[in-house]
Parts: sequence; C-alpha cells; structure tokens
Amino acid sequence: MSFVSHLEGAIDGTQLEPRTVQTLHKDRPIWVKYDLDAVKKAVSRSDLVGRTDSMWRFRELLPVEHNENIVSLGEGMTPLVDCPKLARRFGVKRLVIKDESQMPTGSFKARGLAMAVSMAKELGIATVAIPTAGNAGGALAAYAARAAMCCYVFMPGDTPAANRAEAALFGAKVFRVNGLITDCAAIIAQGKERFKWFDMSTLKEPYRIEGKKTMGFELAEQMHWSLPDAIFYPTGGGTGLIGMWKAFAELAALDWLDDDKRPMMFSCQSSTCAPIVRAFEKGERFADPWENAQTCASGLRVPKAAGDFMILDAVQESGGAAIAAEENRLVDLAREASRLSGVSVCPESGACFGALETAVENGQVSANETVVIFNTGAAQKYVEAIDVDVPTLDCADVDWNLIERV
Ligand SMILES: *Cc1c(COP(=O)(O)O)cnc(C)c1O
Repeated sequence: MSFVSHLEGAIDGTQLEPRTVQTLHKDRPIWVKYDLDAVKKAVSRSDLVGRTDSMWRFRELLPVEHNENIVSLGEGMTPLVDCPKLARRFGVKRLVIKDESQMPTGSFKARGLAMAVSMAKELGIATVAIPTAGNAGGALAAYAARAAMCCYVFMPGDTPAANRAEAALFGAKVFRVNGLITDCAAIIAQGKERFKWFDMSTLKEPYRIEGKKTMGFELAEQMHWSLPDAIFYPTGGGTGLIGMWKAFAELAALDWLDDDKRPMMFSCQSSTCAPIVRAFEKGERFADPWENAQTCASGLRVPKAAGDFMILDAVQESGGAAIAAEENRLVDLAREASRLSGVSVCPESGACFGALETAVENGQVSANETVVIFNTGAAQKYVEAIDVDVPTLDCADVDWNLIERV
C-alpha cells in the first residue's frame, strides 16, 4: 500500500533501494520518490473529504507500507488563522498563520518524527537516538514511547527546561551536553555501534522530510488548492521548507493545484545564527558552518545544515530569499505577533515577522499579496526567553493604585 518507487541521493541523483534502512548518501540527505502517475490514478483530491483529520489523510503520498506501522498521536491539520491586524501592521493584503503550536508536544517536529518513527518501526528498528536543540527531542521521545522504542536524547546544557522535562516525561534517556548540537551529534556518531542507536538527526534518515511536507499539502487543501504569494518559514535544519517545496512539486505533478503559482519561499534565521542567509547573499549553494551560534530561538541554533543546498535550491527556484532578523528583536516580535493575533508565537517565528518587515521594505513582498507565516512551536515552551516581570499584590492589603497604573 505504498507508492514509493525508489529513494534518491539528493546530491547526485543516485537511485537507492527503498524498504531498507538508509541514512545518508555521500554524507548528504536522501529523497523519497513516488510513482505519481499511479497515485494520480488511485486517488483524487475529492477523496480527501471525510478522511482522518490528521496528516495521514494524504496516505498515498506517504512512505509507510503497512497501516499497522503508523505511529500517530493525531498530528496535523493545524488551523490556518487569519490575522487582519498583523496584515495591517506589516503592510500586506492578507496575513495567515499556520499554527503548528497546536501539534502533539507543541511543535511541528511531531510531523517529521511521527513519520520517521513509523518508518523505523516498519524497518524493525528498536532503539533511536537524537541530538536536539529543543523540540525534536521531546517529539521523538513521545513517538518512541507510543511505539515502545528505546529513546536517547542529547541536548546542549542550555536547552529550554520545558524540552528537557518533556523528553524525560516520555521515558527517554536524556543527557545534557556541555557543547552545541553538533557536539551532541558527534556523541551519537561515536556511540552508535556500541549501543545500536539508529540516528534520528535532522535529514540523516529519509523520512522526516516526508512528514514535514504534509504542511505543504495541508496548506494547499486549506487554501482550496491555490497557494499563497509568499511563505515565511523559520529555518534551522530546513526540513520544513525543503519538505513543503517537495510537496508543491508533487501536487503539481498530480494536477491538484488550480493554478501554476507557487509561493516565494522565505527562509528566516536569526542574525546570530544565519548560515543559510550568508550563503544566499553570497549566491552560494552550500553554507559554511556558523561560528559561535547563539540564539534564544533554540530551533534556529543549527550552525551547519546537511541539507543546506536543498534549502537554497528551493529558495532560489521559488524566487524567494533568505533573510535574517535581529536576534535582540525576536522575542519582542513574537510578543507583538501574539498580542495582535491571539496565537502563541514562538521566538523562531518572531524571526519570520522580522524577515517579513525587511521583505516588505525591500519590495520583495508587495501590499496586495497574501503571506503565510508558519508558527512552528508554542511560545509557552520558552519561559526562559519570554518571561516578563509582573507586579506582585499583597492579598491582605491590595494596592489598587498599582492596578490602576499597569
Ligand atoms: C526545529 C525548529 C525549527 C527549525 O525547523 P527546520 O525545519 O529544522 O528548519 C523552527 N522552529 C521551531 C519551533 C523548531 O522546533
């Protein structure tokens, strides 16, 4: 029941065996390819009506072969929230937030890891390990718990407390490492043989992209098969952006899109960790590692992305851009966006609002266009970054003047 035709090395197009355990090819990620002609015959977009309200509604375009291997917590079909006040504030016709904060474990990481864990189950993998800057560890821990797999999570010491707590909550073996995510990845590479870990790092197995591409399918379906003018996406490892661009190509091949228009893809980073932006500005296809990566938006703290060329290709092909927002504005932008929308906007997506401001100033996005911003995670997981001082009251002697003043 899978339409996967083969796997393909993204760097050189080499065909690889499907239905076997695959990691990287020539140290670079692997695409999953489908027999789209067969999919087209098997399913039409009207067949989606009445299907499960999760990303698994796009079943024919997903790699799992046997339904019993699907490991699910109901992920997907997150709402599109129209935000007229934000549209006015940023000077565009329409601004819509796709709110991924409403996913299991509070971030869009659930999509990729639901898929990766389902495929790991199908391929007989029992133990998984992941280096994480934050949300990926929690999501993997949750799906591993659901699949009854053993899970190891390695995170930099200063990863937000909520991420440590949730990974431990689901029974994962969690470690804090006095280094960066790259140091965590090195520990997994060294311990892999000894502990029989399967490495679930971003893009080091082929299936997280397949989970994340469902954001593109949902967006198309929710917008009635006509895509927006621009998408702003906070970029760390880039799976979300890469996945959506792949999704749009697949939908076009199926003739499911009403018009030919594809969105401009904007890859958004923080000024203090912007390897993709730097490469884009230099017109390069590969990004040099970023030294001393630091940002309060933990999901963006990825100094070196294995899929750098896949991100930059998508951005280029789409006519979009890679734009950095000032690190010291991320939290304020997230606060402003939350206040003007009611959506719990994470600091990562704060970078999208900063990038949107720049894109409008530069004329890359115009006043009559529709923009979709991905809110990739829930702000409440970032208490350290977003905490604000609030006044304290004495219940025996309430200071009413203070209340009047705030
Ligand atoms: C991981 C993460 C990102 C970066 O996502 P990629 O698809 O790896 O680029 C952005 N925002 C949040 C909240 C994340 O957890």
